[in-house]
Amino acid sequence: MLFKNVLGQEPAARIFENILKHGRLAHAYLFAGPMGVGKFRFARELAKILLCAEQKAGSDLRPACDRCPSCRQADREQHPNLRITRLAPDEKSIKINDIRRIEREIIMKPIQGKRKIFIINDAESIVEEGFNALLKTLEEPPGYSLLILVTNRPDAILPTVFSRCQLIRFSPLGDRVLRSFFHKELKLNQPEAEVLAHLAQGSIGWGCYLQEHDFIRQRACLLERLGDPGGASRSGLAEEIIAYAQRHKKSLEGNRQRVIQQFKVLALFFYDVLLGHYGLDQYVVNQDQKKLLRKIQTASSPGDITRILEVLMAGEKALKLNANYKLVVENAVCQMNFN
Ligand SMILES: [Zn+2]
Repeated sequence: MLFKNVLGQEPAARIFENILKHGRLAHAYLFAGPMGVGKFRFARELAKILLCAEQKAGSDLRPACDRCPSCRQADREQHPNLRITRLAPDEKSIKINDIRRIEREIIMKPIQGKRKIFIINDAESIVEEGFNALLKTLEEPPGYSLLILVTNRPDAILPTVFSRCQLIRFSPLGDRVLRSFFHKELKLNQPEAEVLAHLAQGSIGWGCYLQEHDFIRQRACLLERLGDPGGASRSGLAEEIIAYAQRHKKSLEGNRQRVIQQFKVLALFFYDVLLGHYGLDQYVVNQDQKKLLRKIQTASSPGDITRILEVLMAGEKALKLNANYKLVVENAVCQMNFN
């Protein structure tokens, strides 16, 4: 396991194990794939492996030791032979000056070690002038240099730059990897980790983002409201959804997104109720909610639940088409009756 610090992404790890074993490292790579699946982490790990002071000349590369000064400098992103460029917070693009700096540094031979590595994260944000400057570097890269562009939008990379890089595709992570990460790193219990893994769309980054916004606590609030389906608490459910959407106030678009996420939580729950109706309990995701699942199952027919799922899906669609989110929530919640 050369890439021991990388989660999932076995195909990319196998490709590089092979490349490194045969000494066929190219000068430029494009790491492309969805947000939050570990592309940047993989690029930094590759740099660490190549720069690690414990590597022995003439023998196969070993995993990064994580202890030598070089590994530690790479972890802190302070290694003299590793330059990391990324989109600055509050900036919309990677500026020409950032690329010019890479141009200047890449032609200077490494002082120590054999390689100089440049990683550009968020590469889709490079300004056009920057791409043109990069193109010149890519036409005649120095032998010791390695450039890795990392992006979730390969379509936004200048085609002439794209064609000079070897493309490595990264896929969404599997549920097993996500579950174990959310359980160990975010300290969620197993059922919560399972729910988050289902809603994270293959992305650790997205799952962490959801959790930073109190997602699991919000799920508990929503399900609690569902558990008491009297008239008063029904309007309470709509208020709960709207209040959460507005709590982390950023933009109207952000509010809509948070309503969509809550609809997904509810849909996942009602889907589990439907599985219960058909005796397929072993596939239920909300394992920690068995009591509530049974209660709603008893109070509803499969037809009720199918209709509620349709309401939630129609609501999600309307939100994506920029409908008024408060109206969508109120409308959906008043149609979620099942007894
Ligand atoms: Zn090391």
